[in-house]
Amino acid sequence: MILSYLRAHTAIFSESESDAYLQKLSIEADYYQLTHLSTLIECEIQRRLENISKKKEEIIYRVVKGTEASSFFSQGWIFVHQYYGNETFGCIATGTRTETIWFGNHCVSCNELMNYEKFIKHTTLFQPVMFVIMKKKSLTAVTASHVIEALNNSAGSLSFDQSFG
Ligand SMILES: [Zn+2]
Repeated sequence: MILSYLRAHTAIFSESESDAYLQKLSIEADYYQLTHLSTLIECEIQRRLENISKKKEEIIYRVVKGTEASSFFSQGWIFVHQYYGNETFGCIATGTRTETIWFGNHCVSCNELMNYEKFIKHTTLFQPVMFVIMKKKSLTAVTASHVIEALNNSAGSLSFDQSFG
C-alpha cells in the first residue's frame, strides 16, 4: 500500500481491508511522514465509523390516542397507521368523545359525583381513534471521537507483519 501510494499518490481502500490493517497503515504513514496518506486513511476510518453508527439506528413504534398524536408529530414522530381502539366510555357532559371511567363514585372526566347506574346513563360508548407512530432512535451515544480514542489506546498492541511494504 505504501509503495503503491508513493507511485500513484493516491490510495484505494476496499472493505476487504480490516480496520486493524488501516490502523497499522496509519502508523506506517505517520512514521514516513506521509501526511496526505495519513489524511486519506483517517477519512476511510471515519467513513467506516459513520457506517457503524448508521447501522445502530433502530425504529421505535408506539400507539397513541389520535387526540394526543399532534404533540408527538411536533417531536419528530411519523404517522404509520390508524385504527379504532376498544370501546370506551365517553362523558356526555364534557363531550361524547372524551374518554372517562367511573372511579371513587365520580365520573373522572367531569368529576360529578354519581352512582354506577347514573354513570352508565351519563356516558356513551365510542371507539377512540388510535394512531401507530414511529421514530428513529440512535442506539449509540458513543461519538466517533470516543471510538478513535479507543482505537488509539489499543494501538500499542498492534504487530507488524509481512503484509507491509
Ligand atoms: Zn362526566
